[in-house]
Parts: sequence; structure tokens; C-alpha cells
Amino acid sequence: MNNLEIKNRIEKLRREISRLRSEYHINNNPKVTDDIYESLSRELHNLEGEYPEYKEKENSLDRVAGAPLAKFEKVNHKIRMTSLNDVFSKDEIVDWENRIKKLLLKKDFSYFCELKLDGLSASLIYENGIFTRGATRGDGYIGEDITENLKMINSVPLKLKSSHYDYLEIRGEVIMKRKVWEELNKKQEKEGKPTFANTRNAAAGSLRQLDPQIAKERNLDFFAWDIAQLGIKNEELGIKKHSDEHSLLRKLGFQVSSYEKKVDTIDNVFKFIEEVGEKRASLPYGTDGMVVSINETDLHSILGIVGKAPRYMIAYKYKAERATTVISHISLNVGRTGVLTPLAHFKPTLVAGSIISKATLHNMDQIERLDIRVGDTVVIQKAGDVIPEVVEVLFGMRTGKEKKFKMLDFCPVCDSKIEKKSKIRESPMSNGLAELPSSKKNLLRGDPRTLRRGAFSDFASESTSSVAYYCINKHCPARAMRSLQHFVNAFEIYEIGPKVLERLKDEGLISDASDLFILENADLSGLSRFGEKSAENIISSIESHKKIIFWRFIYALGIIHVGEQTSRDLANHFKDLNSLRKAKLEEINNIENIGPKVSESIYNFFNESHNLDFIEKLLKNGVCIQYEKIKNNSLSGKIFVLTGTLSTMPRDDVKKKIIENGGRVSSSVSKNTDFLLAGDEAGSKYKEAEKLGIKIISEQEFLKML
Ligand SMILES: [Zn+2]
Repeated sequence: MNNLEIKNRIEKLRREISRLRSEYHINNNPKVTDDIYESLSRELHNLEGEYPEYKEKENSLDRVAGAPLAKFEKVNHKIRMTSLNDVFSKDEIVDWENRIKKLLLKKDFSYFCELKLDGLSASLIYENGIFTRGATRGDGYIGEDITENLKMINSVPLKLKSSHYDYLEIRGEVIMKRKVWEELNKKQEKEGKPTFANTRNAAAGSLRQLDPQIAKERNLDFFAWDIAQLGIKNEELGIKKHSDEHSLLRKLGFQVSSYEKKVDTIDNVFKFIEEVGEKRASLPYGTDGMVVSINETDLHSILGIVGKAPRYMIAYKYKAERATTVISHISLNVGRTGVLTPLAHFKPTLVAGSIISKATLHNMDQIERLDIRVGDTVVIQKAGDVIPEVVEVLFGMRTGKEKKFKMLDFCPVCDSKIEKKSKIRESPMSNGLAELPSSKKNLLRGDPRTLRRGAFSDFASESTSSVAYYCINKHCPARAMRSLQHFVNAFEIYEIGPKVLERLKDEGLISDASDLFILENADLSGLSRFGEKSAENIISSIESHKKIIFWRFIYALGIIHVGEQTSRDLANHFKDLNSLRKAKLEEINNIENIGPKVSESIYNFFNESHNLDFIEKLLKNGVCIQYEKIKNNSLSGKIFVLTGTLSTMPRDDVKKKIIENGGRVSSSVSKNTDFLLAGDEAGSKYKEAEKLGIKIISEQEFLKML
């Protein structure tokens, strides 16, 4: 073969391998076997070795695992990754429809339903058709760069079937299939390693590996569900509907779940939800709901985003799954404020795709109301992220040997006296079993802050009143432990789990969280069972999380009643730690969304000397607070339409500026439009705006608004 023939052969091989790969992994075509694929890949590999000049430079198409990373880099999402509001019944879907109808007036619209896979959301960026960067959702604004791990997933195309688009951001779900999860757990067990409670934890654990080789071995899968744009490319992509995005994703070579449907009425939305609901248990992957959206994408900008979630899209959650089990004993869990929560223990039981061995009984009232006794056969329930709970006793199964549970007089951890008082609401913990009010179902419903992940993050601001039991010892080790756990989670130091924390505390290596930041390799590697590598991982993870954005820092302090949202509100208002530290009670109380009880708790926190000492110690030990650029919100909520030729800057830049400053861009003029930004040779939109009496501005006027 001459050089040209070789070049052609290499290109053909690449195309064929990519075609077979998508046949095999995306279309599940059994006629394509691994060995054909393998032998073509081998030929390509050999030719590329012999003729390196024809090798694809940036992206090799044979998924070779790169070297392990020291840490994940943080990346900014160009477009925020929002969460979804959850609904639990047909009534709530109807309520949602009514709200939408009010906002859209008489506009016509339809719905699009798609199955919600239970995994981790990721954003994938393609430049000129080549996969260049992938990131986790993170907090929606900032995620972690997991490009190398995503490249190891066979259903993530390294190259799109069309290089027509110079920039595309794809969003989807990284999941682990049930079979893969079962096998992984078997393997973990054999090797004496911890098993994963469910497919989502397994997927998350695998994606969080710094070594891409491990991610590769874990056999993850990727399903795409959205094309995110800078609010500008709809026309270019020829997309008018969310369903078009799904079609385009398929054309580009992505795996997209086939459980989707365009429907025109809410009744049909519900029919589809029920239809798929019946098949859920037998699907190869975990699912927890159905995402319902307004199919017409041009209406999305009108509906906008409220809080963390878009108005035009909701997640219907399938009913909790239930199972029965026998309570072997009841223990008490001491929370961060000293509140005691009874937990029922039982043999590992599979429910809603997770293996669980304990469930919350919430409080003594609940135990008495349901008459729960040790030895009872009970019904346990788990739904999505909600903590598993005992919901019913099967009295017919009683033998007479069941024993009533009595509240202890002394703390099981520190032996201090236990007292009964009305419950102080606690700011939530993002791990373990947080104390939840028994009425949590009602709180979850219809609460716009109920997110599909971390559903408890804003419980602090809910009002509940009930009686609870407390360990009166302010220095109870269990309380200190919970605070520590909360702290490392807020700092996103995921390498440190509860067991490691306990160990560090027991060995006297840390007295409070600030000591974490001065730990050294030598401190850990000397401890038995701490391999050198894991000691190194822990130290480097702590090191890389010393820099923390302001609201997370506030959240980490564990101020009572201060959850994630309140922390953000405080960070937005006070801008820096010093002003927050010196804030007057009245000023805190005047912040929107912060009530008197919460402001008092915040004020008191910053006026207790040991808290201030703790903050000083954190800063001294190297914690560095990052203040986010103060965003200008001058265009907040304003809807712009652009027309004509702009002379001072490219259209895309103008659109970006509008969005950055809190405004929105729409493609057509309507009575909801606030401004028409008109350049030269403005056409029909100009006339339309004039007719509707919409304010028309020039580029110069626009720039003055910023
Ligand atoms: Zn105690």
C-alpha cells in the first residue's frame, strides 16, 4: 500500500470501529461480536504504530487509561446545571400544569416524558466533534473534571458522528447496570473490600476514582438526555423541541433511553408514567422517576428557573418500594445537636434496589404510635434518597415474644443524662442518618427546594415541632463526631469517611476539624491498616480542599438551622467573613428568607468565643476562603430579543453578557419581552416590537445597562 492507501485504510478502520462500537454498545446488536471489533482495533493500533503521522493527535480512539490523577480539577459550568423539583402524585402534576398555563397565557404547548435513570449527572463538552471535557454536576455552578474517567466509558463517544458543530455541551447520566453492580459487589466481597449499597453509589464510587484504569474496569454506562446551549444555538441546531434534542443526540452517536414519549395532555402524561412504572422493576438499570417537560424549547426561557430548578421541567417520583423484615434490635443515634434518633436494625434486606440493614424510627412518638417492638415483622420503605423508614407493623406475625423499646436514661455514647424537651430543628447532615421529622413526606411535597439529590439539604428552614430526647452533654463524643462528618462533607473531602474520622479522633491526631489541615503523611502512614497510598490520598485530598468557596465555608461551620441555601443567602449578602462575623442581629434578620429563629442562631454562633477561636484556627491552618466574583444582577429577570446586525461585538457575546448579568434571551418577540436590542437592518422583529410597544434599544444603550 502506498501512503495514501494507508491513510485511507486507517480512516476506514476508524469509521468501521466506531460504527461497530455504537452497534454493540448503543444499539445492543448481538450480531456484532467482540472479536471482530477487537481484530479491527488491533489492525488500527498496529498501523498507527507504524505510521505515527496518521495517528489522531488529541484523541486516541482506543480507550487507553491515562495515569492516575493527583486530584480532580474544579471546572465552571458555562451553563448552570439545575436540579429538578420532585412531585409525587397526579394532583401535583396537575398543579404544575395549572401554574404553567397561567404563565404561558394562551400559548400552545405539549409535553415530553423521559425515564429518569438513577445515576450521576455529567456534562460533556465536544469541540469540533471531539470529546474534550467532562465534569460532574457539583453544586450546579462548579463541578469536577472527570474527563479521563468518562473516556473509559464505552457508551461515551470520543468522536461525534458529525463534526458539524464547533461546540456542543451534552448532558446525561452515568449509571451502573444492575448486573454489573451485583458482580462488582461479589468481587469486592471476595477481596474484603466494602460493597456498594446500590447502583448509584457504585457508579459514584467508580467515577470518583483518580485512577482511570479503575473507572475502566467498573464497566459504567452513559445515557444522554439533554443538549445544553448558551441559550443561543437553538436555531443553528434546528431544534424547536426537547424531543428534537433527543433525536439529535441519537444521530450524534449517543445512547438515549428508549422510554420516552411526546404527549399532548396531562392525562396521557400520567398514562405513560403508569405504563413505564409497571416495567421498572425488570429494567437492566435503576430508575426512580419520570421527567416531564414542556416540549417546546422556546417556551423554556419564558418559564425560566426558580431557585435551583427550572419551571418547565419536573420529576415525577415513583412510589416508594417496600419490603418486610424482622427488627433484631433498636439503637439510638446521637446527632449533631445531641438529639437521639431510634434506629431499627435488621438483616440486610433488598428494597428499592438498595441493600439496607437499618431504618429510622424517627422518634419515640412514632414508635408508640405504630407500636413497634423488637422482634416485630415490619414493613420498611425506601424512596430515592429518602432515608429508609419503618412504616408498618404486621401484627398478625407476632408470637408474643416481642419486646417494647424503652428510652434510655443515659446516653449510650457518653453516659450523660438524657433529657426530654421540645425538638430544636437541626441543620441537616448530608450523610448518615439525619434526624427527620416524621412528617417529612409532607415537607417534601410541593416544596420547591426539594431536589432530586440531597433532598434534605434545606430542612433547617422548615418548621416542625415535636418532643425529642437529648444527650445533655455538649461535649458528647458522638455529637463531635457528627459535626466532624458534616464538616468534611461540606468541604467535599470525600476520601475521609466516618471510619477514618473515628480512627483519627481515637488516635488523638485531631481534636477538632481544623487539625485535619495540618495532618502529614507520616501521621497517617504509621497507623496500622493505613496503607501508604491511602494515607497519601487522604492528605492530598485535604490539601486540595483547603480552598473553599465562602458559602460552603459557612455551611461547614455547622451553625444550627443553617443549611446549604441559608449559607448561600448569607454569602450573597455579606460578601466576606469579616462582615458576617460582625453582623448585627437586625441585619441578619432583614435578609430575605432568613427568619428570626435562624438569625438568632447565626448571631449567637458568631458571638461565642470558642466558635471564633475555631474559625481563627481554621484560617491559621491554611483554609483559604474563596470569594466568588460579585455578579452583577443589573438585568435580573429581563427578557431580551436580538435583531439585526450588531456592530460592537458578536451576537453570541451579547447573549452571554445578558445571561451573565441575570437576563434571558428569547428568539421571538412577545408581550413578555422586555427589550428588543436592535442592530442595523432590523427586520420583522422590529415591527413586531413596535406593534406590541416593547422598548427598543441600541447597542450603546444596552452597554450602558451593564
Ligand atoms: Zn452523649
